[in-house]
Amino acid sequence: MCRKWSSSCLLLVIVFLMDISKAPDKVHIGGIFDRRSIQALTAFRHEVHIFNRAQAKRFRVLNDTSILDVTDSFAVSNALCHHLSSGNLAIFGVSNASSLATIQSYTDTFRVPYVTISTAQNFSHNSSYQLYMRPMYINAVVDVIMHYEWKKVAFYYDSDEGLVRLQQLFQATNRYSSVLTIDTKRITDDHNGYLMLKELHLMDPDIHQRVLLDVRTDKAEKIILKVMNDTEINNSKFHFLLGDLGMLEINLTNFKIGGLDITGFQLVDPLNQTAKLFISTWSNLDPKFWPGAGTEHLNYEAALAADSVRLFTRAFGSLLHKNPGFLRRSRLAGIGKSLKCTDDSEVRTGYGEEILQEMKRVRFDGITGHVEFDEYGQRKDFTLDIYNVAMARRAAKVGFWSQREGRVHMQPPRLVPNPEETNENRTRIVVTIIKEPYVMWKGAPKNGEPLVAVEHLEGFCIDLTKAVAEKVGFDYAIRFVKDGSYGSVLSNGSWDGIVGELIAHEAHMAIAPFTITADRSRVIDFTKPFMSLGISIMIKRPQPAGKHFFSFMEPLSYEIWMCIVFAYIGVSVVLFLVSRFSPNEWHLSETEHSIANDFSISNSLWFSLGAFMQQGCDISPRSMSGRIVGSVWWFFTLIIISSYTANLAAFLTVERMLTPIDSAEDLARQTDIQYGTIISGSTRAFFQNSEFQTYKRMWAYMTSAQPNVFVQKHEDGIARVRDSGGKYAYLTESTTIEYVSSRKPCDTLKVGNNLNSDGFGIGTPLGSDLKNKLNFAVLELRENGDLAKWEKHWFDQGDCEKYNSNKDGVQSALDLANVAGIFYILTGGLITAVLSAVVEFVYKSKIDSTQHGQMSFGSALRSKARLSFRGHVDKEHRVNGTRRRSHNSVTYTYKGPSSVVGGSHGFDDVNTHTEV
Ligand code: GLU
Repeated sequence: MCRKWSSSCLLLVIVFLMDISKAPDKVHIGGIFDRRSIQALTAFRHEVHIFNRAQAKRFRVLNDTSILDVTDSFAVSNALCHHLSSGNLAIFGVSNASSLATIQSYTDTFRVPYVTISTAQNFSHNSSYQLYMRPMYINAVVDVIMHYEWKKVAFYYDSDEGLVRLQQLFQATNRYSSVLTIDTKRITDDHNGYLMLKELHLMDPDIHQRVLLDVRTDKAEKIILKVMNDTEINNSKFHFLLGDLGMLEINLTNFKIGGLDITGFQLVDPLNQTAKLFISTWSNLDPKFWPGAGTEHLNYEAALAADSVRLFTRAFGSLLHKNPGFLRRSRLAGIGKSLKCTDDSEVRTGYGEEILQEMKRVRFDGITGHVEFDEYGQRKDFTLDIYNVAMARRAAKVGFWSQREGRVHMQPPRLVPNPEETNENRTRIVVTIIKEPYVMWKGAPKNGEPLVAVEHLEGFCIDLTKAVAEKVGFDYAIRFVKDGSYGSVLSNGSWDGIVGELIAHEAHMAIAPFTITADRSRVIDFTKPFMSLGISIMIKRPQPAGKHFFSFMEPLSYEIWMCIVFAYIGVSVVLFLVSRFSPNEWHLSETEHSIANDFSISNSLWFSLGAFMQQGCDISPRSMSGRIVGSVWWFFTLIIISSYTANLAAFLTVERMLTPIDSAEDLARQTDIQYGTIISGSTRAFFQNSEFQTYKRMWAYMTSAQPNVFVQKHEDGIARVRDSGGKYAYLTESTTIEYVSSRKPCDTLKVGNNLNSDGFGIGTPLGSDLKNKLNFAVLELRENGDLAKWEKHWFDQGDCEKYNSNKDGVQSALDLANVAGIFYILTGGLITAVLSAVVEFVYKSKIDSTQHGQMSFGSALRSKARLSFRGHVDKEHRVNGTRRRSHNSVTYTYKGPSSVVGGSHGFDDVNTHTEV
């Protein structure tokens, strides 16, 4: 039958053989991967798959991979044996400190290249068949440490590789003249790592801890998260340097609000075209068949595994190109055939060496950047990007380290692009806070809704929001800040309030009475200010000291009035006494029958009163002593009356509303009036950070005062001022104080000059695409007068009278209420005079009736009344010829000078006349 078909059979065989010779040669490679490096294994297989799918290849790669525990040397040697007996030309995969020696001995013995994606262990072993895809970057670590000028670093590691790196670190630091102290600790797991860091921090909470965390990126992330979430730890005291190469593999959104400083290296540049291309196919893979794929997330080990396949295929391709018979020759020499790894008599000839050398010669730009090797199988001419998450900022590239130059290049932080932010058409969230007159409910509050439609709100900031949204061109929804505060830095370095929400990208911008401060500017961006203001003091408006009848008494204090009364009595008594004892005061009476002394006690009182009232009196002292008393009293009177007159006008014409304090200095000086700020706001931060002595003193008071002087909300501050009866002063923005003070119930007041000058700005997260546009919008609104117009509209129409203090010197007309008292006194005096006249009249009539026994009391009254009405005495009534004296005096019988010798002053104490 075959003879019949012989020609056709021969033809078939020839065709078959021709076909075989055209088919690409199959090249076997092996892979040894760890259970933790599944993504690397998938990337390895995927890259082989990509290579094989491409057309016009001279060879196909067949891969055979094993998954094992790489720390288990026995399992590793079994796997190696398996790959060697499968005829693999090169083996790829992971290694670690314990298995490396095994791998090395097999690959050296059988001369099979081993391309590892793990840490380089022994970098001066030039007979080795190892090729290290992962670069040696200990110098980069040291250069970054030196760049930050750290003198001391805590080195935390968790594996034997860590120990190797520590040794390398010590060697590398020898290059530097400055001394670096390294404290080392081995950690077991993430919890243990966190506890150790906590202990380190609590030992000296004020010290900044610089920690080199030599653990895998995922573990480092867990440790740092635990540190960040521990409220006992002040995050701002930590700066972590991650020892791994995949900084961007951390979920950095976790750290945006942490206040931690984290620096790390990134091997795969996400903007690199090769990486982008690989990731785009990677993300489209079905994770069921390609475990770990199907996502944008590609860890750097997977990138290294993919690059290792590229390395091999390029090297092998170039080998075949240079030496087309290589495969045939190598097959003949036994390469690619199975061999028993226990039998080293079957050691291959130098073909493995040829492949290794070719791999060392190849250079290309892979997913992990430039791939090129030195003679020891180490990567060279690579660069590592340096990323940093600091001061609650999103990750930013801050520089790179170049192996060729051996130094760090720092650059201004370039934020990692956030895919969400490039989407122009989405609705922007504007975070704000309720505060009159910036943001107010129009009608009833719509509580409970997270997003509020702008139609339900009104106020200065709402006008501003509408205008900037229109100018910049975005849709927006307004949301109130969740914790109701503006934002202050917490003890762990993170921020709360509006600032915290912007940092966490929970809102795209903040349009509120939101103060621009330096501390905030480090973690968020601000536009130029849309309103200028300063910190000022709000107190309760002093009630006008009620206009009362005796306002004219006010120029002199109560004490002075009392002193004047006592001085008046005292002077009168002294005058009486000195006059009594002074002979010069005695004189002959008008009748010349007796001697008289004008200064009786009542006359003395009268004299003093006359002098005090600036009226004088018709008696005056004749004696030296009496004149001295008189003149000092006149002088006293002169000064008192001039002072009284000087003050009187001011006291009567200006409403007396003296504010108890007029400045921050006044506040700082006293303890009677408490003062405080909002608990989470820029005013509090101003005092906290101030270096000015007065403000420092005020801050010390505020932090120690009992009860607590800080208020949660602005409204609480106003309420406390109103309810504390003038015993609480609230420090906040001047514009707000002026607004509140000019509105009903008109019971608050802004006092003193502004303590500083601030501005409100629109806040955006750092690196926001809107920042510049918002800035332009604000400037335009300022220039075209819209801001001024809204300010006038929302702030100017007040309900309260302007407050006039004495200092302002604004006087109102004197009205009756101020001086009614003197009219009352006048009326009272007149009535008293009339009454006393009546009493005198009756009394005198009574005396007369008793003296002249024949005259009844009634007729005495009548005769006196007649006299009073007629104004002169009838002839028949001029009976006694009693002389009326112009003033009361005491008359004594004068017995002549002789009696002075024997008698007491020559006077008889006989009163011969009574007062009229
Ligand atoms: N406007 C302030 C801020 O942005 C809050 C008010 C205050 O502290 O008095 O923090």
